[in-house]
Amino acid sequence: MPATVRGVVAAAKGAPVEVVPVVVPDPGPGEVVVEVRACGVCHTDLHYREGAISDDFPFLLGHEAAGFVTEVGDGVGHVAPGDYVVVAWRAPCGTCRSCRRGRPWYCFDSQNARQPMTLEDGTPLSAALGIGAFCERTLVAAGQAVPVDRTARPEAAGLIGCGVMAGFGAAVNTGGVSRGDTVAVIGCGGVGDAAIAGAVIAGARMVIAVDVDDRKLAWARDFGATHTVNSSSSDAVEAIRALTTGNGADVVIEAVGRPQTYEQAFLARDLAGVLVQVGVPSPTMRIDLPMIELFGRGGALKSSWYGDCLPSRDFPMLIDLYLRGLLELDRFVSETIPLDGVEDAFARMEHGEVLRSVVVF
Ligand SMILES: [Zn+2]
Ligand SMILES: [Zn+2]
Repeated sequence: MPATVRGVVAAAKGAPVEVVPVVVPDPGPGEVVVEVRACGVCHTDLHYREGAISDDFPFLLGHEAAGFVTEVGDGVGHVAPGDYVVVAWRAPCGTCRSCRRGRPWYCFDSQNARQPMTLEDGTPLSAALGIGAFCERTLVAAGQAVPVDRTARPEAAGLIGCGVMAGFGAAVNTGGVSRGDTVAVIGCGGVGDAAIAGAVIAGARMVIAVDVDDRKLAWARDFGATHTVNSSSSDAVEAIRALTTGNGADVVIEAVGRPQTYEQAFLARDLAGVLVQVGVPSPTMRIDLPMIELFGRGGALKSSWYGDCLPSRDFPMLIDLYLRGLLELDRFVSETIPLDGVEDAFARMEHGEVLRSVVVF
């Protein structure tokens, strides 16, 4: 029987989100229903509400979720009702040209549920990042439901489904941070702080946090940054060079998504260093760099999609690191809120007051 549950829907561009009845169909072949226990509020949800991602309103928001599988459709083998899962927005197809080349973390045809969830009048909902988890239940492709250790509390576990994985993976997977590296992270929100935590776990000997907000720099220290630079009062590039004996950092992670911070990251890199862009720019942004510097500095300029993660490999690993006390996921949880608190949480997020508000059910 299709279930009617409560979910947070963005009905029109810029309009406040509302909690409305959502109809969740029975799972079809290759689909599963997840009873959501917690879901973090991410900037991407706000971008959907603002129409900055697409015009496919109405959207069912929420995509950083943990919960329990309640039903599975035909042909689903790797999860069963009762399994505790974190929901991923990448579920490699196994057959696209990237998967065939042995690079499933780039999968170009990631799987989502085929059936839409709907409003009560049958209007199909566009699920944010193919998830839609500000909702008591959500329908996803089976591959999106990644089993993890059930002793990890859902408020913390759900966060690895997006921002934490993106940041951690930017440092560890894309940037290849390894023992002894010097690392700089520009932008210390949830993604940047996860990059800092990842760099620390990977063995970086110096992790420099850069932001314009002293509150965020204090959070960055909590996640293991060894040095902080407030780039509103000092030159970020000069400061990073000064801390790295004049050379620049081995790996610089740009977690803002703006031309100015990209240029800072480019210039704050040591020769043959790696720049990782994980901040998401807007479509109109441009960068202008001297080509001789692109060539002369060598190294690599990389973009990190979702931390270049393979959820089935990386989610259980992050949860294990959390349960060992090495990855402090609880620090990302600034507050827990009810389902009808998402609109207010957007405002606190925009003002930089919280790292993550997490809806609990
Ligand atoms: Zn694929
Ligand atoms: Zn997100």
